Amino acid sequence: MNHKALHNCSYGLYVISSRKGDRLNGQIANTVVQVASDPPTIAVSINKQNLTHEFISESKVFTASILSQDTPLSFIGHFGFKSGREVDKFKDVNYRLGDNKAPIVLDHSLAYLEAKVINQVDVGTHTVFIGELVGAEVLTEGEPMTYAYYHQVKRGTTPKTAPSYIKERKETISKMTKYECTVCGYIYDPELGDADGGIKPGTPFEDLPDDWVCPICGASKDQFEKAKE
Ligand code: FE
Repeated sequence: MNHKALHNCSYGLYVISSRKGDRLNGQIANTVVQVASDPPTIAVSINKQNLTHEFISESKVFTASILSQDTPLSFIGHFGFKSGREVDKFKDVNYRLGDNKAPIVLDHSLAYLEAKVINQVDVGTHTVFIGELVGAEVLTEGEPMTYAYYHQVKRGTTPKTAPSYIKERKETISKMTKYECTVCGYIYDPELGDADGGIKPGTPFEDLPDDWVCPICGASKDQFEKAKE
C-alpha cells in the first residue's frame, strides 16, 4: 500500500470551534466536508485528545470558519499548535457567537458554517461529527486556503510549480541550510525567508534576529535544528 496516494486528496483549512458552558475553544482542521444537501449537512473529523473534541461531545455544536489563502502562519499556529487547556485561544481574536453559541472567527475567515451534531462515528483516534447546518454566511470575498497551499507555499517546502525567481536564486543560495522547528515541524527555508515575519528570501538561518520565532508555533530560534535533507 502506498500512503502517498492519500496526498492526492484535496482539503481546505478551517478553524473548528465549540463551547462548553461559557468556555470557548477552537482548533485547526482540514477535514470539513459537505455530506448531504437537504437539509445541508457537514462532517468534521476531530482528534479525541483535543479539547475541542471534549467541547463538541458535550455541547453537540460546532462552527467551521473557512480560512482565506492569505491567513498568516502565526494565526494558524495559534489555533493549531496551542492547547485550549493552557491558553484562552479567543482572547485576542475577533469573533462573535453564532446562533449555536459557538464562536465564529472573524479574522481571516471568508465564511462560516454553524452546525448542530446529529450523529457521530468513532474512527479510532478520531470522531467524525456529523452536523446539520443551523447557520451559514459569507463574510468576505476571497480565495479559500487549501491544505496543499498551506503545505507547499506557506510552509516553504518547494512546490513543483515554484515561481521562477526561486529557481534563479537556487543556483546561488542552494547551499544554505534549512532548519526545522523541533516543536511543530515547520521548516525554515533560507531561499524563501519568512514573509509573515518580515524576513526576506535569501536570509540564512544564522542571520535571523535573536527574537525571531517560529511563524507557526512561536518557538524560539534555539528550538530549531538543522533539517535532514
Ligand atoms: Fe514551530
